[in-house]
Amino acid sequence: MKFSPALRLRLDGEALAANWTSMAQLSGTAETGAAVKADAYGLGARAVVPRLWKAGCREYFVAHWGEAEAIADLVPAARIAVLNGITEADIAPALQLGAIPVLNTPHQIALWKAAGGGRCHVMLDSGMNRLGIGAEQISSTDMASLQIDLLLSHLASADEDVAQNRDQLETFIAMAEGLRPRRKSLANSAGIALGPDYHFDLTRPGLALYGGVASTGLTGKVRQTVFPQACVLQTRTIRAGARIGYNATYVAPVDMRTATLAIGYADGYLRGFSNSGTVHFQGIPMPVVGRVSMDLLIVDATNCPQLAEGDWVDIDFELSAASTASAVSQYELLTTLGKRAGRRWE
Ligand SMILES: *Cc1c(COP(=O)(O)O)cnc(C)c1O
Repeated sequence: MKFSPALRLRLDGEALAANWTSMAQLSGTAETGAAVKADAYGLGARAVVPRLWKAGCREYFVAHWGEAEAIADLVPAARIAVLNGITEADIAPALQLGAIPVLNTPHQIALWKAAGGGRCHVMLDSGMNRLGIGAEQISSTDMASLQIDLLLSHLASADEDVAQNRDQLETFIAMAEGLRPRRKSLANSAGIALGPDYHFDLTRPGLALYGGVASTGLTGKVRQTVFPQACVLQTRTIRAGARIGYNATYVAPVDMRTATLAIGYADGYLRGFSNSGTVHFQGIPMPVVGRVSMDLLIVDATNCPQLAEGDWVDIDFELSAASTASAVSQYELLTTLGKRAGRRWE
């Protein structure tokens, strides 16, 4: 059966490639990889990875082994780093797959050595206290026999101008002393904007590739990549005083015309957009009125008399502005995009 969906994500492949190139330019002489975990932040890793490869990206970061397996036929497995590291149960299939674990704990290091794993990456925790060998563990962790390709650390507050960035940089340098990795890597998207001190040999942007303005330093350097579009299911004329949507959070102040669209929070257009999001049709902005429903959205179409049932409406989703409107982080806006929308690459 062939149904025509009433909701789609238009994805701009040129913008994706341009964003990677922009991050590569900002990374100077450092190589530039790509974080493609969480299905490339919701865009679809199998569509994103070949496009990034074509743009020049040669290093990919995922969180789980299943995510590595899902793209291992698209790029050489040895170019895929698995950030969550390794467990005993995963070692045999991991070696078979050939993706490279990012070892995070003394236990993971011991497992890898015992398995004769060979080339690996190692994460140092330089002050985020999340994942990686901590400063308190470094002297007691024997890494002498490890064949470390990438030595990594991750910045906790790269999107802010705070002393923690410099602290982590200095801690990373101090912790790396005596280790002999082939390459070092510290910066995510926002870290790239902190400047050359933070670039080392390889940068690891994620958010910026997909159109996120990860910090003020990246304003104007990133193009919107994800464009949700939804169909008008119904238009109606309502009287002043009419109540709109669940719990009547919007009451029409005057006579209005509204339109109901086929998108809702189940599609990742979260409730934070209630009475604050905007959509466009033929250049005319229409504000969201009332609460976002699971599958439906109501907008004020009073200024758009030509809007009719079946028309496709553009949902405003420039991530920086959408994040401000919804009070949801740019990361969450991307990674909660639902599976119902067809993804259409252009
Ligand atoms: C997710 C992630 C990145 C990418 O971060 P962005 O802020 O999306 O650029 C880089 N490094 C690590 C370790 C990550 O977990």
